[in-house]
Parts: sequence; structure tokens; C-alpha cells
Amino acid sequence: MVKADDRAGSGISVEAAVGRLLGGRCPVLEPGHVWLAGAGPGDRGHLTLNALCGLIQADIIVYDALVDRGVLDLARPGAVLEFAGKRGGRPSIHQSDITARLVMLAREGQRVLRFKGGDPYVFGRGAEEALVLAREGIPFRIIPGLTAGLAGLAAAGIPATVRGINQAIVLATGHSAEGETDPVASLDWSALARLGQPIVLYMSVRNLGAIADRLQAGGMSPDTPAAAISRAATAEQTLLVGTLATLAGQLERHPLPTPALIVIGGIVAMRDALGGLAADAQAVLDTF
Ligand code: SAH
Repeated sequence: MVKADDRAGSGISVEAAVGRLLGGRCPVLEPGHVWLAGAGPGDRGHLTLNALCGLIQADIIVYDALVDRGVLDLARPGAVLEFAGKRGGRPSIHQSDITARLVMLAREGQRVLRFKGGDPYVFGRGAEEALVLAREGIPFRIIPGLTAGLAGLAAAGIPATVRGINQAIVLATGHSAEGETDPVASLDWSALARLGQPIVLYMSVRNLGAIADRLQAGGMSPDTPAAAISRAATAEQTLLVGTLATLAGQLERHPLPTPALIVIGGIVAMRDALGGLAADAQAVLDTF
């Protein structure tokens, strides 16, 4: 057995550790290229080394609301920081304007970091941006990130899978595509109810009542444990715990700050068995 203290390299500085992990240098972000990167959920600890490499090399960083502002301080002196997200409930910049801008910046020969919360290819419209870049012949690279629906769960003390409880986990959005009158029409909620597997919902707080009704109509028990996780993986992380039948009402009486995830399924109850709070989880608002 080798103790940590005996291993070569223990006790080295953060700089040296990062340098060693990267083999001394970052993958190069070339002029005229775009990196479509995820910042992970919540605070800066969830950034990957590759995303960090993008941050320190980019000439321009086009970032979304969910990116921890603290990480932007790592940008090169002179790098341009451009916000491209929703702010204070105002409508977001149109998606086609963002993609057109990325294409233009790359054509100018800039090193472009397109920075999104979580993983760029999970419910963040990253695929739409990548499609345009591909169509326009702009060289780009995807830098994966931790997605909120998995890392945010873990940060709140809820395991995504538990042997004997679930064999699958559904990541879904509770927000239909633009232009649909029924806000939750895009998904067959009865089919998801019949699966009998936990469901993690992104962008769903507003539509939770309608979703919970459909899941119950599809046969999911009203007593199924359910939780809302607000600002997962940050110092302000808050949990509201209830059941499929109660959670929407609880959230109406006690609105939580965004962003928030909803998780429905037996895995929610594992939190208690595991000692409740993960080390850095804060308030838990139990059923009231
Ligand atoms: N690409 C992102 C998701 C973008 S959709 C990812 O992979 O995580 C935005 C939704 O993600 C929010 O409405 C919310 O449901 C969820 N979300 C993102 N970050 C979160 C966080 N820190 N805490 C709780 N929910 C979060």
C-alpha cells in the first residue's frame, strides 16, 4: 500500500498540479476557431481543465447566465466578455443572433470561447449552435461539462442510480418547443410514468403542476418522493422535499430562486439514508 504522503508529487502547488494534469500545456484554441464549452453547474469548482484552457486563451468569451462570473476573471487581459443570456426575466438574445455572431467572430480570426452552464449539449441549445458552425465551415470543438441533472443531484446528496431502486434515469425538459400552446405537450408523460424510473426535470418549475398531473394520470404514485434543488452546487443550494402530489403546491407557497431542478423518484428518499446533506449542501425545506 502506498500512502498519499509517500507518492511522488504529493504536496505540490495547485499551479503545478494543474500543469502536470495538462502535461504542461493546454490544447490550443486556434485563431478562427470556436470552442463550445460547458462550465458545469453552480460554482467554479465544476469547471474542467479543458474549459479552463479555453478561458485563458480566448480573445472573446460569449457566455450565458448560468456561468459562474468568478471564472470569467481568468480571461486574458484584453479579452472581451460578452453576455448572451437571459437577465432579470427579460427575453434572451435571439438564438440566431448568437450563432451569427459566433460565425462572424471566428471569421474575423478571433479565438472564440462560447461558454454555457452545465454541459453544452444538454438542454442548452449547444447542438443548434454547433450545427450552424458546421454548416458554415467554422472549425469548432466541444468541451464537455458536468450537467446539472447529474452533478446537481449528487451535490444535493441524491444519488442518480441506486442498485435495487433504479436501472435508468430520465433527463427531461418540462418546457415545450417554442410556439406550442400546451406547455408540456412535447413529451408522452404517461409513457415516462410507466417506465417507473426516476425523472430529472430541467426548466420545469413553472410547469410542474401540469407535469405532476400527467404523471399521476399515467399511473405514477402521488406519494413518489420528489424534490426541487435550487442553485445546485453553489453556496446557496436549497432543497425543497415533498412528493409528486405536493411539490408543485409547496413551490408556489415557497418559491425558490432559479435555476432549479426537479427530481422525482425513489432515489430522492436515499438522501435521508445517506445522512441527509452532502457536505456542502445548505438549507433543506421539508414538507410544509
Ligand atoms: N446545459 C445545462 C442545462 C441548461 S438548461 C446543463 O447541462 O446543466 C437550464 C436548466 O438547467 C435550468 O432551468 C435548471 O433546470 C437547470 N440548471 C442548470 N444549472 C443549475 C443549477 N446550478 N441548479 C439547479 N438547476 C440548474
